[in-house]
Amino acid sequence: MRRPLVAGNWKMNGSRSMNQALMQDVVAQVGHLDSVEVAVCPPFVYLEQVAGLVGPGIALGAQDLSDQDEGAHTGEVSGAMLKDLGCQYVIVGHSERRTLYGEDDAFTARKFAAARRHGLKPILCVGELLDERERDVTEAVVARQLDAVLELEGIGAFRDAVVAYEPVWAIGTGRTATPDQAQAVHAFVRGRLAEHDAAVAAGVQILYGGSVKADNAAELFNQADIDGGLIGGASLKAADFLAICKAA
Ligand code: PGA
Repeated sequence: MRRPLVAGNWKMNGSRSMNQALMQDVVAQVGHLDSVEVAVCPPFVYLEQVAGLVGPGIALGAQDLSDQDEGAHTGEVSGAMLKDLGCQYVIVGHSERRTLYGEDDAFTARKFAAARRHGLKPILCVGELLDERERDVTEAVVARQLDAVLELEGIGAFRDAVVAYEPVWAIGTGRTATPDQAQAVHAFVRGRLAEHDAAVAAGVQILYGGSVKADNAAELFNQADIDGGLIGGASLKAADFLAICKAA
């Protein structure tokens, strides 16, 4: 009942020529997959270019947004601007924003709210650091991250939102969570949402992210509560991204 979603997070990569070549291959092959929803999230400066390249069947997303709507916020990009450029999705609370730029749970929740104010679907990232997994506090961390958003926006907001579980120790490291490890946290996330509303929890797409590759995607996506992936490095190579989309 939940349609899988595979979203490519290009991070701070790309150039006009690289984007053109990558999108040409992605559109040619992924545009035809009905069983999976596909999105690409290029850097802000390339959104307009990529909006012109996505074609039907591929959605556009941004990697971040301001918690503010307009005005004197130098360097920020608002949800309204993203909507204006044709974005449907926006990643919120990626671990690189949280750990490298000090964005905390409350700030992330305000960005989630800003995305919704402008009709964008937030992809809310949650996940624990290596040290937190080793201390066995993964569920407490993920619960805290989810609760900040639930407190501000309520469970109803998750009707139009996606959650991405990304264990920080698996991002860009080549170290993937095992399907069992990932499924356990995905089930925990769904359960936490179900405490508020079982129907909303049953409908929300929960993506896995962290070193998803062509050769490990299928076993991850086969898990009951894994509804696709948020793909970093492998989304920059058309062949790998296509293989991952097909695995979903
Ligand atoms: P990765 O990144 O696939 O390169 O590990 C995933 C992410 O950070 O979203």
